Amino acid sequence: MNDFIKIYYTKYFPFELIYSWIIKYGEFNQREFSIIKLNNSIQRGLKFNSIEDFKHYIIEKDVVRIDIGPYNDGKNNPFEKELIFDVDMSDYDINHRICCSNDKICEKCWNYILVGIHILKFILEKNFAFKKIMFVNSGRRGFHCWVFDKEVIKLTNETRKCIIEFLKNYQNLSYKFQSIHLLKNHETGIYEFLQTLEPYYLKILEILPLEFLIKVIKEIMNPLLFKKIEQNLNELKENLKKEITSDDSSSSSNFFLSKKLWFNYISLIKNQLNNELVQFYILAIQFYICFPLLDTNVTQTVNHLLKLPFSLHNKNFGVSLPIDLTKYDKFEHHHSPLHEEIVKNIDLLSFNNSKIYFQNFITSL
Ligand SMILES: [Zn+2]
Repeated sequence: MNDFIKIYYTKYFPFELIYSWIIKYGEFNQREFSIIKLNNSIQRGLKFNSIEDFKHYIIEKDVVRIDIGPYNDGKNNPFEKELIFDVDMSDYDINHRICCSNDKICEKCWNYILVGIHILKFILEKNFAFKKIMFVNSGRRGFHCWVFDKEVIKLTNETRKCIIEFLKNYQNLSYKFQSIHLLKNHETGIYEFLQTLEPYYLKILEILPLEFLIKVIKEIMNPLLFKKIEQNLNELKENLKKEITSDDSSSSSNFFLSKKLWFNYISLIKNQLNNELVQFYILAIQFYICFPLLDTNVTQTVNHLLKLPFSLHNKNFGVSLPIDLTKYDKFEHHHSPLHEEIVKNIDLLSFNNSKIYFQNFITSL
């Protein structure tokens, strides 16, 4: 294992590209790093005078994982950094998926990652007008998002906190929009964007816990209108549960409960509400459930560290690869190639494609 890690950092890790990125916004020797070695020991607050020193340290000290922090003014005051977001699939365990837990991801729950990237990119581009956005597979069970626009580098903790709060509030469209009319007329084009979520949502429904779907329906709907359908919805839920226990008790049959409930729910509200309201609730519930679960702490403080793109993961040795968004629907979670596979040329193609993508991205900054 040791040899593979050494070969990976010696031959494949893009030190020069990382250097070109860091010096675009400040001095290389001001940037803070933290590392985890093969023996699991951790070193924090590291700084390096040159890229050669950095490379030498990583290779000689058997470093597995590299995290990057802010630029630091030399008096240990962190002061500048990109804007970052972190989505980790283990946060989806309680409410969002019945297929997997912890660090397991399957083809079905991977849709949360795909749609999470899709939604975050839309809001960052349309609501904040950011242009330099990069998504990175976090190497194990989620994704990181980096915003490199020049104006974000100097953002204070307070502003970062406002941004993450704005995003979290945005999840419930009924607070801000209330009607299909307001959605259609919003300058971000959110109405058209919401139409693109359905394919992801339908796959997510297969693994969505029934109770959570009902909870979201209640949260989104006007309480008076919800009251009108509450009893019917509960009856539907009970019938579905009975169907499963009497029919087939295998866990896979649970997979479709929410999907069945969803279509019944639509028929139910169609009988009670006007078309516009039905459409609004369908879109708002889809959006709420697909919305990425963001780790607030990672975004809101400038001194928070995040795994450096192309670093290995310290547990499974997967590589954090930047994701080319023009191909991101085809991106699979298996494509966090293990460094060993890269060294053996097995998944060199996806690694090299990602490196070219990263190079072009850094050049464009
Ligand atoms: Zn799964």
